[in-house]
Amino acid sequence: MREITTGHDVGDRISFRGHGTHTVLYPWPDETVVSAGEGVVFRRGSKPGEPTSYTTLFMEVYPPGAAFIRGEGTTPQECEESAWARYQHALNCSDGRGSHDWEARGYRNGAGFCSRCGTFGSQVFTGEQLGQFCRICGTGTTYHWDTDKTAGTTTLLCEEHYKTHKPTCHSSHNRPLAQLLAELLDEDS
Ligand SMILES: [Zn+2]
Ligand SMILES: [Zn+2]
Repeated sequence: MREITTGHDVGDRISFRGHGTHTVLYPWPDETVVSAGEGVVFRRGSKPGEPTSYTTLFMEVYPPGAAFIRGEGTTPQECEESAWARYQHALNCSDGRGSHDWEARGYRNGAGFCSRCGTFGSQVFTGEQLGQFCRICGTGTTYHWDTDKTAGTTTLLCEEHYKTHKPTCHSSHNRPLAQLLAELLDEDS
């Protein structure tokens, strides 16, 4: 397996940052990229009184045939078992044509989730498929978008026209700063 930040081949021993190393139990393909450690997960739509976040060990893998898989648990072993189960599920996910059933779920950057196995894939949709077209040249694009929340409109730019027509104000991408701050403030209260 390969470590995500360095790209180094770490064999079957992966580092859970701050929690030692873990020898993997399952035959992950050599080219699988891995990232593991402890992290904070924000809950969406938590009810009043419920925690808005939790801390967990995780193992994230990018194996061939599945773009992104994450396993969580209280031990490195649990994380790996969860990730392996998801990986097998993703590999066996088929509608008879051997492909996932991608849904955009509101993502504008071309990423999507499979409706059957939950696998996350990047660049599974084109701008044309999402009905997103550059406002200058009309080419399908997933490169850049700006949403005007008041007007409820979104304008899109292809890579080439982003360079020349870059908006002066800061754009709201899929994770606006305001949302991030709200989450951090929630955590403190
Ligand atoms: Zn699938
Ligand atoms: Zn353009």
